[in-house]
Amino acid sequence: MLIFDAHVDTLSRLLGSGRSLAENQGHVDLAKLRQRKKGAQFFAAFVDPRCYHGKALHSTMEMLDLFWRWMEEYPGDLAFAGSGQDILEVHSSGRVASLLAIEGGEALEGSLANLRMFYRLGVRLLTLTWNHRNDLAAGQGEGPGGGGLSRFGEAVVAEMNKLGMLVDVSHLNEQGFWDVLRISDAPIIASHSNARALCDHPRNLTDQQIAALAERGGVIGVNFYPHFLVKERQATIHDVIEQIEHLVKVGGVDCVALGSDFDGISGTPLGLEHCGKVPEVAEILKERGYTGSEVEKIMGGNLLRLCQTVLD
Ligand SMILES: [Zn+2]
Repeated sequence: MLIFDAHVDTLSRLLGSGRSLAENQGHVDLAKLRQRKKGAQFFAAFVDPRCYHGKALHSTMEMLDLFWRWMEEYPGDLAFAGSGQDILEVHSSGRVASLLAIEGGEALEGSLANLRMFYRLGVRLLTLTWNHRNDLAAGQGEGPGGGGLSRFGEAVVAEMNKLGMLVDVSHLNEQGFWDVLRISDAPIIASHSNARALCDHPRNLTDQQIAALAERGGVIGVNFYPHFLVKERQATIHDVIEQIEHLVKVGGVDCVALGSDFDGISGTPLGLEHCGKVPEVAEILKERGYTGSEVEKIMGGNLLRLCQTVLD
């Protein structure tokens, strides 16, 4: 079975700390990825708000460089994947199919040329905003009156459709979400977002958003951050299962994926302390009566299908 996680922040975490991918105290390292049975992984270059003014492109390039240094340093464990075909090939070679994402359109510094160069450097997914407004759109932190996609944001989505990149609506405010859904030719992704019906937080999606995204062939990666799972008590792996079951109920089994947010979150649910614990999700789903093929879809098959549709 392919386990495919749509979002971790290991690049920014390790770039900042200088610690090793081989083994570290965080949520993702090579030892824990082996425990997960490898699979596929989107590594996000998270643009820190401290870099927004004058250093967004610079810091993004440092993270892309770190990604490519990992590929050289650990050829037995990792290999770059830029397409659905690559993911299958790397997976069957027993290594982690490693995909590149950028979290925060600030990295573009207003330039479609930078977007195209990022594609050439291997980037296959862009999260349009983080929580704030940028020149593409407004993040959820701007609230409902924050406005939708800008003209530049529309041009970015159109160029991403042309290049074959995944447009990620996690962190966008609601108006931006509907704008992207209206203008994108390709199915979209919410790489690390949950259902608001189970946990009322503006980072989470309404049932209407979930249904619309699913209807267009998109995928939602369930986020493991305790504050996006449940309020007023310690979250556990069963809250992740509840999110999965809700997404299945509202959007159907084909829209559900995993987007742990590991190394970007300050706490984890009990039972999902790091990426090596993720196979347990599949075990619980089987116990709850999901068929083998449904479990495979949720754990990675749906995200693979989206990559094959959009990237190939
Ligand atoms: Zn995020």
